[in-house]
Amino acid sequence: MSTVNAIRDQLRRPLRDLRISVTDQCNFRCTYCMPAEIFGPNFQFMKKEERLTFEEMEQLVRCFARLGVVKVRLTGGEPLLRKDLHLFIERLSKIEQIEDVALTTNGVLLTKYAKLLKTSGLRRVNVSLDAIDDDVFNTINGRAIGVSHILKGIESARNAGLEAKVNMVVKRGMNEEQILPMAAHFKKEGICLRYIEFMDVGNTNEWNPSSVVTKKEILAELSQHFKLTPLKAAYYGEVANRYRYADSNTEVGFIPSVSESFCSNCTRARISAEGKLYTCLFATDGFDLRALLRKGVSDEDLIEIISRIWGKRTDRYSDLRKLSAKKQKKKIEMHYIGG
Ligand code: SAM
Ligand code: SF4
Ligand code: SF4
Repeated sequence: MSTVNAIRDQLRRPLRDLRISVTDQCNFRCTYCMPAEIFGPNFQFMKKEERLTFEEMEQLVRCFARLGVVKVRLTGGEPLLRKDLHLFIERLSKIEQIEDVALTTNGVLLTKYAKLLKTSGLRRVNVSLDAIDDDVFNTINGRAIGVSHILKGIESARNAGLEAKVNMVVKRGMNEEQILPMAAHFKKEGICLRYIEFMDVGNTNEWNPSSVVTKKEILAELSQHFKLTPLKAAYYGEVANRYRYADSNTEVGFIPSVSESFCSNCTRARISAEGKLYTCLFATDGFDLRALLRKGVSDEDLIEIISRIWGKRTDRYSDLRKLSAKKQKKKIEMHYIGG
């Protein structure tokens, strides 16, 4: 357990988690995240030199660790598209205060990399899978990759000794009929499935409140078929509401980001692939850390700057969403900042 006293923001929330988007590119075109009409062949992604190098990211993590961060999650875009990601994981795992390095992936490249990721020090993977039916899955992901390919990836991850969970975004009209089949499949496999409420991240997914299938609705549907026992939060800031199937050891969870927002104990900072620091998923502006890194900033100065930013933090977008019908103008995109 880390002995660092985490810095706190204006709402007394400690800095505990860091999410790093290692690339803005992806091999899927999920309709709600990177719709193919917008992210077509001519879309300009970041150039290689615009992205932070592993050395730069490592320096950041070292500084964040001294401010209280104990968990790092790598995301994207699709993080496994970043060449030699395992070498970065290896470096992160050696940072003393970092207790946990995890990865969020669409699973396409998991079979190829699972063993290497495990030996590099990765502990856990969250695999995103929004349907167990091939037609529904292909309509969502925009690529001709079937469900069995992702299931093999999950199996490879488990065989390699990684803890694997599955995340399913539920959007009305997109995949709500997959709620039960997904539960049945992953219960049988003994894998924790978490249902994520569809959020109004970014500017391209045409979110509206009626497209959100709430935790309450999903729980009501599951409860008609399974007996579920609620579990207590395992740690401060846990975003998932966990349940256990009464007749097995398998858990099922909900991430009710919209209907039961959890800003009051949000301990997460985010860094985009080009090195901007965001203190909320719904932020409009980030702080350019890359400019400082490329001028050779010292760890001490970085720590001072990050503490100042976190110290001023007041973000609680999801709590406020319910109170204000006003639409925020421009937000960052999900593939840019990661989930
Ligand atoms: N490509 C990787 C993947 O899909 O796991 C990592 C990046 S992706 C942006 C991270 C997670 O964000 C995925 O589980 C995805 O389903 C979720 N996500 C994307 N847009 C979302 C939205 N509008 N609401 C809720 N979750 C969303
Ligand atoms: Fe890619 Fe993940 Fe976004 Fe789907 S959700 S388009 S896999 S970044
Ligand atoms: Fe954290 Fe912002 Fe999400 Fe609230 S809306 S939980 S502050 S990331």
